[in-house]
Amino acid sequence: MNIYLVELIVFLLLALFVTIIFKVKKNHKLKLILFTLFIIFSVSISGTYLLEKPHVYIVSPEINLQINQYSEIKVPHTTYHMKDVTSSVKIIGTVDYNKVGTYKIEYEVPTIVGEYNVEQTINVVDSIKPTITLKGDKVYNLSYSAKYDELGFTVEDNSFEDLTQKVKISKEEITDTEYDIIYSVEDSSGNTAVERRKVLIVDDIAPVISINGSANMRILVNSTYTEKGATAIDEKDGDLSDKIEISGKVNTSKVGEYKIKYTVSDKSGNKAETTRKVVVYKESTNPSSSGTGVIYLTFDDGPSSSITPKILDILKEKNVKATFFVLNYNSSLEYLIKREYNEGHSIGIHGYSHVYSEIYKSDEAFMNNVTKLQKKIAATIGYSPTIIRFPGGSSNTVSKNYNKGIMSRLSKTVIDAGFRYYDWNVSSGDAGGAQTSAQVYNNVVNNLSKSRSNVVLMHDFGGNTKTLNALADIIDYGLENGYIFKPITKDTPMVTHHISN
Ligand code: ZN
Repeated sequence: MNIYLVELIVFLLLALFVTIIFKVKKNHKLKLILFTLFIIFSVSISGTYLLEKPHVYIVSPEINLQINQYSEIKVPHTTYHMKDVTSSVKIIGTVDYNKVGTYKIEYEVPTIVGEYNVEQTINVVDSIKPTITLKGDKVYNLSYSAKYDELGFTVEDNSFEDLTQKVKISKEEITDTEYDIIYSVEDSSGNTAVERRKVLIVDDIAPVISINGSANMRILVNSTYTEKGATAIDEKDGDLSDKIEISGKVNTSKVGEYKIKYTVSDKSGNKAETTRKVVVYKESTNPSSSGTGVIYLTFDDGPSSSITPKILDILKEKNVKATFFVLNYNSSLEYLIKREYNEGHSIGIHGYSHVYSEIYKSDEAFMNNVTKLQKKIAATIGYSPTIIRFPGGSSNTVSKNYNKGIMSRLSKTVIDAGFRYYDWNVSSGDAGGAQTSAQVYNNVVNNLSKSRSNVVLMHDFGGNTKTLNALADIIDYGLENGYIFKPITKDTPMVTHHISN
């Protein structure tokens, strides 16, 4: 009931009673009854008024507050005798907002008859799960050749509890190339958090392409370029040579520099690329036809199964023709004589035998040694060579031990018999002083001269890797420095030593 209305009614009744009491002067009995009624009525009204309780509008007897998220409890709206008395309400009791727990407080409202208290329960709770933050990529590409190193994490919780040591890390295999790393943690209120990092095992290693033959080729204009391709090996996928794509063309009819590009990708898309440089060059008109600036590479004492095929490979790749002064060969090496001949090299006679004591014991023995091999070569390739290199050279003095003056005679005899003989003016030292490929290389290139024809003495006997390994560089040097390479033919001017026996 409206308290103001009550007050008004009380006032009006009071006024009415006072009026009636004064009007019924003579009836004392009635006066007494009315007065008694007035007293009773006044007391009951006053009692109701005095005993009315304030109204505290609490939301709920229990309030849940997240830990660390609340700093002050608001006093609930409170009325007393229809008036807003919120501002005079006091909070009794304390709450530790940083600690999970149940706290009791009271709202205390002052009234006419004393303090009126309303209880309130505050539950400080932690129902928020921790937060795990992963360092590094959530989807991590790991090279199959590498080991996974934990990338780390941070963990935060609203309770400010340090949960770092509580984080459990486990691994879950998904497929052969994929797994999850699971980070899980539980705070002291039982809130759990889980994070996952996906690790994808990837092949990020490109294949390796090796060019077959030389990566720096030189070929004579109007000759044939043969694409030898390349080999590609991938650590994971193995041999990918079939998948190599070759692009670029060599126009062999036009001098210039060409590039052949080899590209290949492995199954994971790692791409490898390499390039072969092919220089198409024109044989210079200067050096002159007299042979100046020409290099005649000569190989003695072959053929050998270990060295001769590889020398032929290099000569073929460089498109350089040379001369082989051969010794007797058995039938298993016939193919090398044929190959030398078929690939455009010259074949000369070194001798059926190389044994000085036998070949230089007489003029006849020497000539037989020459013609015996000549016939054998003719039987192998259908061509009879007429160029000779004397074992030990025409300047040898070892023949003195077996026949005095024989070299002076033979040098004429061979020519009378239709042969021409060739000594050398550049010695690679590969049968003597040179110990390494570098020494062979230097012995040759340091003694070349543009002002003459250069006959280079080398050997293709078995095991002569010094020369084999220097050959490509020697040829490159010659080509880059304007020399031309030719095989010795019967028309090549003789290069001879001074005869000393
Ligand atoms: Zn020899």
